Amino acid sequence: MQLIMLGPPGAGKGTQAELLEKKLKVCKLSTGDMLRAAVKAGTEIGKQADAVMKAGQLVSDDIMIRLIRERIANIDCANGFILDGFPRTIAQAEALDVMLASMKKPLSLVIELTVNDEILVERIAGRFSCAKCGAGYHDTFKPTKAAGICDVCGSKEFTRRKDDTRETVKSRLEAYHAQTAPLLPYYQAKGILRSVDGMAEIGDVTLEINKVLESTSK
Ligand code: ADP
Ligand code: ADP
Ligand code: ZN
Repeated sequence: MQLIMLGPPGAGKGTQAELLEKKLKVCKLSTGDMLRAAVKAGTEIGKQADAVMKAGQLVSDDIMIRLIRERIANIDCANGFILDGFPRTIAQAEALDVMLASMKKPLSLVIELTVNDEILVERIAGRFSCAKCGAGYHDTFKPTKAAGICDVCGSKEFTRRKDDTRETVKSRLEAYHAQTAPLLPYYQAKGILRSVDGMAEIGDVTLEINKVLESTSK
């Protein structure tokens, strides 16, 4: 199964992809995570991406297509993959189509999570993750079960993203509406777009996604 999670920053793509990865036993490719790792490691791509990400803008299509091409080719997951954060422009979507055609792995579904801009700001302002295993949390909506301890790996260290500020969110939402939203009609026209209400509680969103997956695998 080849899935794309689509939606604005803070919509819950990463949260749902984390759950789906386990359920479907496929690989999850998050371009945001890849870029943050590149920034941390100080690679050439990381150096170029750092300022762009802090400004809440999109990293160039060139870099992104190169990054995903290397990973997608390396994947040894026979069951497929979930893309979280890619593609974000029509140029990226077209490049992805070419890659997948040559791999004979067509897209199964594009799942759009719909959430209002006002709620996204709240979600992003309260987001944090485990510094060790990357599990995602929220101050109000998804706190750790035991205070200060990661549910998944027991670590006591957490991080917040540098771009998760109320100011940067505005640019990121603008970038989404201007550059990424055109992907909705693009995938709609291919007949593989499914929209899910991302405003519901995390567990209910998961249930909705599972229903969509069941209805398409029949
Ligand atoms: P994205 O990957 O789309 O940017 P995340 O999955 O990181 O979004 O979610 C953003 C924040 O909102 C996280 O802190 C997450 O715990 C929280 N969150 C995710 N889904 C929901 C939901 N359905 N209701 C409330 N909070 C959510
Ligand atoms: P979110 O989960 O909030 O949607 P991501 O973690 O996916 O954010 O991405 C963080 C930042 O990394 C983006 O604001 C952008 O600067 C950059 N980025 C990630 N994926 C892409 C992409 N496919 N194209 C361009 N820039 C990207
Ligand atoms: Zn952890």
